[in-house]
Formats: sequence, structure tokens, C-alpha cells
Amino acid sequence: MDGIVGGAIGPRFRDPLWTADGRPRASVAPDALTTLWFNTGTLCNLACGHCYIESSPRNDALVHLTAEEVGRFLDEAVHEAPDLREVGFTGGEPFVNRDLTAMLADALGRGLDALVLTNATRPLTVHRAAITELAARFGARLGFRVSLDHFNSARHEAERGPGTFAWALEGLRWLSGTGARVAVAGRLAFGQNEEELRRGYAAMFAEQCLSLDADDPRQLVLFPEMDGSAAVPEIAESCWDLLGVRPQAMMCASSRMVVRRRGADRAEVMACTLIADDERFRCGTSLAEARRRVWLSHPHCSRFCVLGNAKCG
Ligand code: SF4
Ligand code: SF4
Repeated sequence: MDGIVGGAIGPRFRDPLWTADGRPRASVAPDALTTLWFNTGTLCNLACGHCYIESSPRNDALVHLTAEEVGRFLDEAVHEAPDLREVGFTGGEPFVNRDLTAMLADALGRGLDALVLTNATRPLTVHRAAITELAARFGARLGFRVSLDHFNSARHEAERGPGTFAWALEGLRWLSGTGARVAVAGRLAFGQNEEELRRGYAAMFAEQCLSLDADDPRQLVLFPEMDGSAAVPEIAESCWDLLGVRPQAMMCASSRMVVRRRGADRAEVMACTLIADDERFRCGTSLAEARRRVWLSHPHCSRFCVLGNAKCG
């Protein structure tokens, strides 16, 4: 029994419209699209144990997007998404994609803000001249969020490999001097609570002469863990009020992510940055098609968004 019919009992997170115990599944209606993410490709120079999208130097399940493909979506946004404010670039490591700085110049030149999620290691250094130029032109409208799993190098490198902490710090210091907007992404993990982690990062920022405020959640973003093996409850439509959570606070209400699969002849749109490989979250090949309701049928919806209270990818 697959739990397809309301009232039936079936496996959890299987049916798109009904929970396993037969209740209407929670869904999110589309609001104005304000943030558009581009997954520039799953290739990465690192292969972190906790990478949710399993990036590595060999994983090209999502191939590199081109600047031309990004431009096509930004052209469409002029009519289909007039409220678009920010364009985000994630991966893999976005700087492995040689077109990244051209994509940034395009987005920023159209008056949009841009944000790059980066590990700030070797691929970034190759693009220093272009980044310097973009930061001089666009200042804080260009943003970078550097992944530093923990303020302690041994803990960071246990996930990312030897030498990665010093490399990322060097990249972070360099970016901070360009005039671009800079933030750090850490993890709510390692058996420490948020307050302990923020104090640890604050001490490290001071030691490294980085003018980042560890108490500002925009400058130090701490993400809850996505433990895929932990069981989580499904979210039914009736749960919103019980939990005191608004559907429109979910990022799939106001954002989408563009990807291109290996072997596909064109890029397509996914409902959010967290789910790249589930058919049910594919939203077509244009922003017009992607303007549709999203049913929360993936464990990440419960674990990370509704119960984990996360707001960005
Ligand atoms: S640096 Fe980021 S994208 Fe690359 S493997 Fe690590 S977590 Fe994944
Ligand atoms: S994981 Fe979060 S953002 Fe993505 S579809 Fe589910 S609720 Fe929406």
C-alpha cells in the first residue's frame, strides 16, 4: 500500500498530496519571486563528508551552467518576476565554474544583488582580478558567504580536509578587503549550543582581525544539521496553525533554483536549493512554469524548514 488515497496508511513522504496517515499534505503557494538561485554545477575541489548535495571533484550530476543560460532566466525575470531582488550562486564550488564572474557581472549590471556561497579556497584565488573589479563597481551589492564549519581548525578540517581552514581564512580576509559584503556560514553542531558557537567565532574573528559581528545572524549564519538518517514527522495542512509556522515563511514561497542535469538539453527550475534530485520538486524549464504550489513531501521540508526553522540554502 503506497498511501495514495486519503485515509490510507502508507510509507511516509511517498505520496505528493497525502501524508502516510491520510491527511492532506502541507503545501506552499507561490508568492512574488524575490530570490533566484543558480546551482552552477556539483563539481567541487573538496569532498566534504557532510555535503548535502554530495559534491566532489568527480560529481557532475549537475553540470556547469553557462553565463548564457543564466542570462536567459534573468531576461525572463524582467516580465515573470518583477520583484526579483537577489540572485544567489551555489554549487559545488561556484568558482570552479569559469563563467561565474560573467554571471555576476550580468546580474549586478541589471541592478540585482548577488550572493555567492563559497569555500573560499583555491578556485576563488583564480578569479581575484575579476572579483576586485566587480567589488569596486558594485560594492556591497556583491556578497560572499564563506563556509567555516567551526571556529576551530581541527573541527573544520575533520570535514573538509587538511589545510582547508587556513586557506578559507585567507580567502575570507582577502574578500573582506575588497569592499564586497562578506558573511560566514557555520553549523549548529559539534555538541555546542548557539551561544557557545557565537562566542567561539567572535574570539576567532577578533584574533584574525576580521570585522564580522558574530552576534549578527546575517554576518554569521548558523545552519541546523540535516541528518538524513533521523526520522522526522510529516507535515499536514493542519500542522501550520498547531506549530505556529506560516507557509509563506518557507523559502519555496519566494525563491527557486535553476540547475542543469548531466545529459539534459537545457536548464530547469527546482522548487528550492535543498532538493536537487527529487522528481516531485521539478518545476519546468521557465520561471513562468515554476510559479506553482509546492507540496512538502520530502523529509528536508520537515527536518530543515518547518521544524528546523531554516530560511536559506
Ligand atoms: S565545499 Fe561545499 S559544495 Fe564542496 S564538498 Fe564541501 S560542502 Fe559540498
Ligand atoms: S525543503 Fe523547504 S524550501 Fe524546499 S520545498 Fe521543502 S519546505 Fe520548501
